[in-house]
Amino acid sequence: MSHDAYTRLLHAALGREEGAPSTPPIELASVRLLTGDPAGAPPSYLRLGNPTWEALERALGVLEDADATVFASGQAASFATMLTLAATHPHLIVPSDGYYGTRKVGGMLGPFGVRTTALDLSDAAAVRSALAHGPAVVWAESPSNPWLRVVDLQALADLAHAAGGYFVVDNTTATAATQRPLDLGADVSVTSLTKSTSGHADVVLGSVATRSAAVRDGLRLWRAQAGSIAGPFEAWLALRGVLTLPLRIERQSRHADALAAWLAAHPRVRRVHHPSQLTGEALALARRQQPTGFGPILSFEVDGDAAATDRILAAATLIRNATSFGGVESTWERRARWPAEDAPASLIRLSVGLEALADLTADLASALAVA
Ligand SMILES: *Cc1c(COP(=O)(O)O)cnc(C)c1O
Repeated sequence: MSHDAYTRLLHAALGREEGAPSTPPIELASVRLLTGDPAGAPPSYLRLGNPTWEALERALGVLEDADATVFASGQAASFATMLTLAATHPHLIVPSDGYYGTRKVGGMLGPFGVRTTALDLSDAAAVRSALAHGPAVVWAESPSNPWLRVVDLQALADLAHAAGGYFVVDNTTATAATQRPLDLGADVSVTSLTKSTSGHADVVLGSVATRSAAVRDGLRLWRAQAGSIAGPFEAWLALRGVLTLPLRIERQSRHADALAAWLAAHPRVRRVHHPSQLTGEALALARRQQPTGFGPILSFEVDGDAAATDRILAAATLIRNATSFGGVESTWERRARWPAEDAPASLIRLSVGLEALADLTADLASALAVA
Protein backbone atom coordinates (compact mmCIF):
# COMPACT_ATOMS: atom_id res chain seq x y z
CA MET A 1 0.00 0.00 0.00
CA SER A 2 1.30 3.45 -0.84
CA HIS A 3 1.14 5.96 2.01
CA ASP A 4 0.07 9.57 1.92
CA ALA A 5 2.85 11.97 0.84
CA TYR A 6 3.12 13.63 4.27
CA THR A 7 3.37 10.25 5.98
CA ARG A 8 6.16 9.31 3.57
CA LEU A 9 7.96 12.62 4.23
CA LEU A 10 7.94 11.96 8.00
CA HIS A 11 9.44 8.51 7.58
CA ALA A 12 11.77 9.09 4.61
CA ALA A 13 14.90 9.66 6.67
CA LEU A 14 14.27 7.04 9.38
CA GLY A 15 15.53 3.48 9.73
CA ARG A 16 13.44 0.61 11.20
CA GLU A 17 16.17 -1.87 12.01
CA GLU A 18 16.72 -2.94 15.63
CA GLY A 19 18.88 -0.32 17.35
CA ALA A 20 18.22 2.38 14.71
CA PRO A 21 18.51 5.89 16.15
CA SER A 22 15.19 7.77 16.42
CA THR A 23 16.57 10.62 14.28
CA PRO A 24 19.40 10.52 11.73
CA PRO A 25 22.83 11.15 13.30
CA ILE A 26 24.76 14.36 12.67
CA GLU A 27 27.94 12.88 11.26
CA LEU A 28 30.73 15.44 11.48
CA ALA A 29 33.72 13.25 10.63
CA SER A 30 35.56 14.55 7.56
CA VAL A 31 36.97 11.08 6.83
CA ARG A 32 35.87 7.49 7.28
CA LEU A 33 38.31 4.65 7.58
CA LEU A 34 38.84 2.90 4.29
CA THR A 35 40.99 -0.07 3.43
CA GLY A 36 41.62 -0.53 -0.24
CA ASP A 37 39.23 0.15 -3.11
CA PRO A 38 36.73 3.03 -2.54
CA ALA A 39 34.34 1.72 -5.25
CA GLY A 40 31.15 0.53 -3.60
CA ALA A 41 32.28 1.70 -0.13
CA PRO A 42 30.46 4.56 1.69
CA PRO A 43 31.99 7.98 0.90
CA SER A 44 35.31 8.16 2.71
CA TYR A 45 35.57 11.95 2.58
CA LEU A 46 32.88 14.43 3.63
CA ARG A 47 33.00 16.54 0.47
CA LEU A 48 31.88 13.48 -1.50
CA GLY A 49 28.97 12.44 0.67
CA ASN A 50 27.60 12.37 4.18
CA PRO A 51 24.75 10.41 5.79
CA THR A 52 23.20 13.55 7.31
CA TRP A 53 22.74 15.24 3.91
CA GLU A 54 21.52 11.99 2.46
CA ALA A 55 18.78 11.85 5.11
CA LEU A 56 17.71 15.39 4.17
CA GLU A 57 17.85 14.49 0.47
CA ARG A 58 15.57 11.50 1.02
CA ALA A 59 12.97 13.74 2.69
CA LEU A 60 13.23 16.45 0.01
CA GLY A 61 13.06 13.76 -2.67
CA VAL A 62 9.73 12.55 -1.29
CA LEU A 63 8.31 16.09 -1.50
CA GLU A 64 8.98 16.26 -5.26
CA ASP A 65 9.08 12.54 -6.23
CA ALA A 66 12.61 13.15 -7.48
CA ASP A 67 16.30 12.99 -6.63
CA ALA A 68 17.24 15.94 -4.43
CA THR A 69 20.78 17.27 -4.12
CA VAL A 70 21.58 19.69 -1.28
CA PHE A 71 24.03 22.57 -1.52
CA ALA A 72 25.65 25.12 0.77
CA SER A 73 22.99 27.76 -0.09
CA GLY A 74 20.18 28.53 -2.50
CA GLN A 75 22.65 30.51 -4.61
CA ALA A 76 25.06 27.56 -4.69
CA ALA A 77 22.14 25.39 -5.84
CA SER A 78 21.25 27.88 -8.60
CA PHE A 79 24.88 28.26 -9.62
CA ALA A 80 25.45 24.48 -9.88
CA THR A 81 22.24 24.17 -11.93
CA MET A 82 23.37 26.93 -14.32
CA LEU A 83 26.82 25.35 -14.72
CA THR A 84 25.42 21.86 -15.27
CA LEU A 85 22.96 22.95 -17.95
CA ALA A 86 25.15 25.64 -19.56
CA ALA A 87 27.59 23.02 -20.80
CA THR A 88 25.11 22.26 -23.61
CA HIS A 89 22.68 25.23 -23.21
CA PRO A 90 24.76 28.39 -22.74
CA HIS A 91 21.85 30.87 -22.88
CA LEU A 92 19.96 31.64 -19.69
CA ILE A 93 16.51 33.24 -20.01
CA VAL A 94 15.59 34.56 -16.56
CA PRO A 95 12.64 36.59 -15.26
CA SER A 96 13.23 40.34 -15.13
CA ASP A 97 11.17 40.51 -11.90
CA GLY A 98 12.36 37.51 -9.87
CA TYR A 99 14.98 37.15 -7.16
CA TYR A 100 17.79 39.56 -8.10
CA GLY A 101 20.52 37.13 -7.05
CA THR A 102 19.57 34.84 -9.95
CA ARG A 103 20.12 37.61 -12.51
CA LYS A 104 23.32 38.60 -10.72
CA VAL A 105 24.95 35.16 -10.76
CA GLY A 106 23.76 34.55 -14.34
CA GLY A 107 25.40 37.81 -15.38
CA MET A 108 28.63 36.82 -13.64
CA LEU A 109 28.84 33.82 -15.99
CA GLY A 110 29.03 36.18 -18.99
CA PRO A 111 32.84 36.17 -19.27
CA PHE A 112 32.66 32.34 -19.38
CA GLY A 113 30.43 32.26 -22.44
CA VAL A 114 26.97 32.12 -20.85
CA ARG A 115 24.54 34.72 -22.15
CA THR A 116 21.77 35.92 -19.82
CA THR A 117 18.55 37.50 -21.10
CA ALA A 118 16.13 38.98 -18.54
CA LEU A 119 12.53 38.97 -19.78
CA ASP A 120 8.92 39.27 -18.69
CA LEU A 121 8.20 35.53 -18.82
CA SER A 122 4.46 36.13 -19.14
CA ASP A 123 5.20 37.48 -22.64
CA ALA A 124 5.18 34.22 -24.66
CA ALA A 125 6.23 35.96 -27.90
CA ALA A 126 9.31 37.44 -26.19
CA VAL A 127 10.24 34.04 -24.73
CA ARG A 128 9.76 32.36 -28.10
CA SER A 129 11.98 34.88 -29.88
CA ALA A 130 14.70 34.61 -27.19
CA LEU A 131 14.58 30.82 -27.63
CA ALA A 132 15.31 31.22 -31.34
CA HIS A 133 18.96 32.09 -30.55
CA GLY A 134 20.26 28.60 -29.80
CA PRO A 135 19.97 26.08 -26.93
CA ALA A 136 18.69 27.80 -23.82
CA VAL A 137 17.56 27.32 -20.25
CA VAL A 138 14.29 29.02 -19.34
CA TRP A 139 14.43 29.87 -15.63
CA ALA A 140 11.10 30.81 -14.05
CA GLU A 141 10.09 31.85 -10.55
CA SER A 142 6.44 31.58 -9.57
CA PRO A 143 5.19 33.15 -7.42
CA SER A 144 8.09 35.57 -7.85
CA ASN A 145 10.00 37.28 -5.07
CA PRO A 146 9.08 40.02 -4.12
CA TRP A 147 6.18 40.69 -6.53
CA LEU A 148 4.36 37.35 -6.08
CA ARG A 149 3.61 37.23 -9.80
CA VAL A 150 2.38 33.93 -11.16
CA VAL A 151 3.41 32.58 -14.57
CA ASP A 152 1.99 29.55 -16.39
CA LEU A 153 4.67 26.93 -15.73
CA GLN A 154 3.35 24.22 -18.07
CA ALA A 155 3.11 26.74 -20.93
CA LEU A 156 6.72 27.84 -20.35
CA ALA A 157 7.87 24.21 -20.11
CA ASP A 158 6.21 23.51 -23.47
CA LEU A 159 7.86 26.56 -25.07
CA ALA A 160 11.31 25.64 -23.71
CA HIS A 161 11.02 21.98 -24.70
CA ALA A 162 9.70 22.76 -28.20
CA ALA A 163 12.93 24.73 -28.75
CA GLY A 164 15.12 21.92 -27.34
CA GLY A 165 15.71 23.82 -24.12
CA TYR A 166 15.60 23.05 -20.41
CA PHE A 167 13.00 24.44 -18.03
CA VAL A 168 14.02 25.32 -14.46
CA VAL A 169 11.74 26.67 -11.73
CA ASP A 170 12.97 28.49 -8.63
CA ASN A 171 10.40 27.11 -6.20
CA THR A 172 11.63 28.94 -3.08
CA THR A 173 8.59 31.14 -2.61
CA ALA A 174 6.05 28.38 -3.23
CA THR A 175 7.95 25.47 -1.61
CA ALA A 176 7.33 21.87 -2.64
CA ALA A 177 4.49 21.74 -0.10
CA THR A 178 2.33 23.96 -2.32
CA GLN A 179 3.76 23.51 -5.82
CA ARG A 180 5.52 20.63 -7.59
CA PRO A 181 7.21 22.13 -10.68
CA LEU A 182 8.39 18.73 -11.96
CA ASP A 183 4.70 17.74 -12.31
CA LEU A 184 4.14 20.95 -14.32
CA GLY A 185 6.79 20.19 -16.93
CA ALA A 186 9.96 21.48 -15.26
CA ASP A 187 13.20 19.52 -15.67
CA VAL A 188 14.68 21.02 -12.51
CA SER A 189 13.24 22.58 -9.35
CA VAL A 190 15.59 24.78 -7.29
CA THR A 191 14.82 25.78 -3.70
CA SER A 192 16.58 28.00 -1.19
CA LEU A 193 16.00 25.91 1.92
CA THR A 194 17.01 28.98 3.92
CA LYS A 195 13.45 30.32 3.63
CA SER A 196 10.18 28.49 4.32
CA THR A 197 11.44 24.97 3.71
CA SER A 198 13.75 24.88 6.76
CA GLY A 199 11.43 27.46 8.28
CA HIS A 200 13.18 28.60 11.45
CA ALA A 201 15.60 31.29 10.19
CA ASP A 202 18.61 29.37 11.45
CA VAL A 203 20.29 27.81 8.40
CA VAL A 204 21.48 28.78 4.91
CA LEU A 205 21.11 25.86 2.48
CA GLY A 206 19.75 25.06 -0.96
CA SER A 207 18.57 22.07 -2.93
CA VAL A 208 17.85 20.98 -6.49
CA ALA A 209 15.29 18.32 -7.41
CA THR A 210 15.24 16.56 -10.76
CA ARG A 211 13.97 13.29 -12.28
CA SER A 212 16.84 13.26 -14.81
CA ALA A 213 19.71 11.02 -13.72
CA ALA A 214 22.06 12.88 -16.07
CA VAL A 215 21.22 16.28 -14.55
CA ARG A 216 21.47 14.85 -11.01
CA ASP A 217 24.90 13.39 -11.76
CA GLY A 218 26.05 16.71 -13.27
CA LEU A 219 24.91 18.59 -10.15
CA ARG A 220 26.65 16.13 -7.83
CA LEU A 221 29.86 16.32 -9.82
CA TRP A 222 29.90 20.13 -9.47
CA ARG A 223 29.12 19.83 -5.76
CA ALA A 224 31.83 17.24 -5.11
CA GLN A 225 34.51 18.94 -7.19
CA ALA A 226 33.73 22.65 -6.65
CA GLY A 227 32.88 21.89 -3.03
CA SER A 228 29.66 23.86 -2.33
CA ILE A 229 28.56 21.26 0.20
CA ALA A 230 26.02 21.44 2.99
CA GLY A 231 27.38 21.24 6.52
CA PRO A 232 26.01 18.19 8.38
CA PHE A 233 24.64 20.24 11.27
CA GLU A 234 22.80 22.60 8.89
CA ALA A 235 21.44 19.60 7.00
CA TRP A 236 20.14 18.13 10.25
CA LEU A 237 18.44 21.42 11.20
CA ALA A 238 16.86 21.67 7.74
CA LEU A 239 15.58 18.10 8.01
CA ARG A 240 14.03 18.86 11.39
CA GLY A 241 12.38 21.92 9.84
CA VAL A 242 11.10 20.27 6.67
CA LEU A 243 9.15 17.68 8.66
CA THR A 244 6.70 20.40 9.71
CA LEU A 245 6.72 22.27 6.37
CA PRO A 246 3.26 21.11 5.21
CA LEU A 247 1.70 22.06 8.56
CA ARG A 248 3.40 25.46 8.73
CA ILE A 249 2.60 26.32 5.14
CA GLU A 250 -1.06 25.38 5.55
CA ARG A 251 -1.53 27.84 8.47
CA GLN A 252 0.70 30.55 6.98
CA SER A 253 -1.10 30.34 3.62
CA ARG A 254 -4.52 30.72 5.26
CA HIS A 255 -3.34 33.70 7.30
CA ALA A 256 -1.53 35.32 4.35
CA ASP A 257 -4.73 35.09 2.25
CA ALA A 258 -6.72 36.72 5.05
CA LEU A 259 -4.16 39.49 5.58
CA ALA A 260 -3.92 40.17 1.83
CA ALA A 261 -7.69 40.72 1.73
CA TRP A 262 -7.58 42.87 4.89
CA LEU A 263 -4.71 45.01 3.51
CA ALA A 264 -6.44 45.41 0.13
CA ALA A 265 -9.36 47.07 1.95
CA HIS A 266 -7.14 49.36 4.05
CA PRO A 267 -7.20 53.07 3.03
CA ARG A 268 -3.42 53.48 3.57
CA VAL A 269 -2.60 50.58 1.21
CA ARG A 270 -2.28 51.32 -2.50
CA ARG A 271 -1.75 47.84 -3.93
CA VAL A 272 -1.44 44.32 -2.60
CA HIS A 273 0.60 41.72 -4.47
CA HIS A 274 -0.50 38.18 -3.67
CA PRO A 275 -1.91 35.33 -5.79
CA SER A 276 -5.12 35.33 -3.70
CA GLN A 277 -5.84 38.83 -5.03
CA LEU A 278 -5.93 37.64 -8.66
CA THR A 279 -9.26 37.14 -10.40
CA GLY A 280 -10.74 35.01 -13.17
CA GLU A 281 -8.44 32.80 -15.24
CA ALA A 282 -5.29 34.13 -13.51
CA LEU A 283 -6.64 33.06 -10.10
CA ALA A 284 -7.70 29.67 -11.50
CA LEU A 285 -4.17 29.11 -12.88
CA ALA A 286 -2.58 30.12 -9.55
CA ARG A 287 -4.85 27.64 -7.70
CA ARG A 288 -4.07 24.85 -10.16
CA GLN A 289 -0.34 25.39 -9.71
CA GLN A 290 -0.55 25.70 -5.92
CA PRO A 291 -3.55 23.63 -4.86
CA THR A 292 -2.72 23.63 -1.14
CA GLY A 293 -2.13 27.38 -0.62
CA PHE A 294 0.03 30.29 -1.69
CA GLY A 295 2.56 30.26 1.16
CA PRO A 296 3.57 32.86 3.74
CA ILE A 297 4.63 35.91 1.75
CA LEU A 298 2.83 38.85 0.29
CA SER A 299 3.90 42.34 -0.63
CA PHE A 300 2.08 45.65 -0.63
CA GLU A 301 2.64 49.31 -1.40
CA VAL A 302 1.56 51.99 1.05
CA ASP A 303 0.77 55.65 0.55
CA GLY A 304 3.91 57.62 1.33
CA ASP A 305 7.64 57.83 0.70
CA ALA A 306 10.50 55.71 2.03
CA ALA A 307 10.63 57.53 5.38
CA ALA A 308 6.87 57.17 5.95
CA THR A 309 7.09 53.48 5.06
CA ASP A 310 9.97 53.01 7.50
CA ARG A 311 7.88 54.65 10.26
CA ILE A 312 5.14 52.08 9.63
CA LEU A 313 7.64 49.23 9.86
CA ALA A 314 9.11 50.63 13.07
CA ALA A 315 5.66 51.00 14.68
CA ALA A 316 4.92 47.27 14.73
CA THR A 317 5.33 45.59 18.10
CA LEU A 318 5.05 41.98 16.91
CA ILE A 319 6.23 41.88 13.28
CA ARG A 320 10.00 42.33 13.19
CA ASN A 321 12.01 44.19 10.58
CA ALA A 322 14.19 41.61 8.85
CA THR A 323 14.95 40.28 5.42
CA SER A 324 14.42 36.71 4.23
CA PHE A 325 11.08 34.96 4.79
CA GLY A 326 9.35 31.78 5.80
CA GLY A 327 10.30 31.68 9.49
CA VAL A 328 7.91 30.82 12.30
CA GLU A 329 7.72 34.47 13.40
CA SER A 330 6.42 37.24 11.15
CA THR A 331 8.93 39.61 9.58
CA TRP A 332 8.71 42.42 7.08
CA GLU A 333 10.98 44.85 5.31
CA ARG A 334 11.03 47.67 2.79
CA ARG A 335 12.54 45.94 -0.23
CA ALA A 336 14.00 49.09 -1.83
CA ARG A 337 16.48 49.35 1.06
CA TRP A 338 18.53 46.83 -0.94
CA PRO A 339 20.31 48.81 -3.70
CA ALA A 340 20.16 45.91 -6.18
CA GLU A 341 16.40 45.43 -5.72
CA ASP A 342 14.15 46.94 -8.36
CA ALA A 343 11.14 47.89 -6.21
CA PRO A 344 9.27 51.13 -5.46
CA ALA A 345 10.22 52.95 -2.24
CA SER A 346 6.99 52.03 -0.46
CA LEU A 347 6.93 48.29 -1.27
CA ILE A 348 6.80 46.21 1.91
CA ARG A 349 7.32 42.46 1.79
CA LEU A 350 5.63 40.65 4.67
CA SER A 351 6.40 37.08 5.71
CA VAL A 352 3.50 35.74 7.75
CA GLY A 353 4.61 33.60 10.67
CA LEU A 354 2.63 31.23 12.85
CA GLU A 355 1.16 33.84 15.23
CA ALA A 356 -2.59 34.11 15.74
CA LEU A 357 -4.28 35.92 12.87
CA ALA A 358 -6.06 38.36 15.23
CA ASP A 359 -2.72 39.39 16.78
CA LEU A 360 -1.14 40.01 13.37
CA THR A 361 -4.14 41.96 12.12
CA ALA A 362 -4.08 44.17 15.24
CA ASP A 363 -0.33 44.76 14.84
CA LEU A 364 -0.78 45.77 11.20
CA ALA A 365 -3.70 48.03 12.08
CA SER A 366 -1.72 49.94 14.71
CA ALA A 367 1.41 50.17 12.54
CA LEU A 368 -0.57 51.53 9.58
CA ALA A 369 -2.15 54.13 11.87
CA VAL A 370 1.18 55.96 12.53
CA ALA A 371 1.61 59.36 10.96
C1 LIG B 1 16.74 33.68 -0.98
C2 LIG B 1 16.45 33.23 -2.35
C3 LIG B 1 17.44 32.62 -3.14
C4 LIG B 1 18.87 32.45 -2.66
O1 LIG B 1 18.99 31.57 -1.58
P1 LIG B 1 20.16 31.66 -0.47
O2 LIG B 1 19.85 30.48 0.41
O3 LIG B 1 20.05 32.99 0.20
O4 LIG B 1 21.46 31.53 -1.18
C5 LIG B 1 17.10 32.19 -4.41
N1 LIG B 1 15.85 32.37 -4.90
C6 LIG B 1 14.89 32.97 -4.18
C7 LIG B 1 13.52 33.13 -4.78
C8 LIG B 1 15.14 33.42 -2.88
O5 LIG B 1 14.17 34.03 -2.19
